[in-house]
Amino acid sequence: MPELIEVELYRKLAARTVGRTVSTVLLPRPQYLRKGTNLEALRTATRAQTLKRVRRIGKLLILDIGKNSVGLRFGMTGRLIVDGETAIERLLYTTPKVEADHLPFVMSFEQGGELAIVDPRRFGSVEVQPNETILGPDADKISREELGAMLHNSKTALKALLLNQRKVAGLGNLLCDEILWRAGLDPHRPSHSLEVTDIDELDAAISGTIKELTQRGGSHMGDIQDQRRQAGICPKDGTELQRSTLGGRTTWWCPEHQR
Ligand SMILES: [Zn+2]
Repeated sequence: MPELIEVELYRKLAARTVGRTVSTVLLPRPQYLRKGTNLEALRTATRAQTLKRVRRIGKLLILDIGKNSVGLRFGMTGRLIVDGETAIERLLYTTPKVEADHLPFVMSFEQGGELAIVDPRRFGSVEVQPNETILGPDADKISREELGAMLHNSKTALKALLLNQRKVAGLGNLLCDEILWRAGLDPHRPSHSLEVTDIDELDAAISGTIKELTQRGGSHMGDIQDQRRQAGICPKDGTELQRSTLGGRTTWWCPEHQR
């Protein structure tokens, strides 16, 4: 959290600042700058420049400002605030309350208003000219062919592959577990072992889950969300869900119908 769904809501909110001119950029904690970016470079790149476009690739939000781009990453608890308004009231693992100490990045505009990140745990970051080429295709746009080729070429466990932002961008822990549960696929399976019908199921589950959870209001609104706990049961067949660790993340899955 936040995953693709949340960052897409941030993108829509940030779009209202398009056409404004940057006046100041505040970063109370320099550690919030990603390695390779310094505050002076960030200020030089944006000062008196017009914000032209807001884009998103996976979980990366990109502000095109003048001739430069600024990448915002939201880590575990980051939310976007524009002109005092948040896209999402509540994220899992964080508090809705906004405190001044929790604003590691504030960009103000000559026309008024500001675009800020609120991030109590500060796992997010800000970067000038983020390298967009290291990200895989966005999970909401990946084609059946791209997905098939990616799976075919990898022996990695299926869930670990889906979590790898260099392969497919935007899926986090909650979306991955929900997608694999809906597709009926064991998250431990070597990716290249998927057959044509499995890939079809996965392709449909990725787009269907993103669409449905967007309508419900976030990555934490999945069907298995309430059962991601000890003695949680599969809502499809009543089997007790199993827990394991894949790609470094806690994974919940059903041993009955996920194969
Ligand atoms: Zn099940």
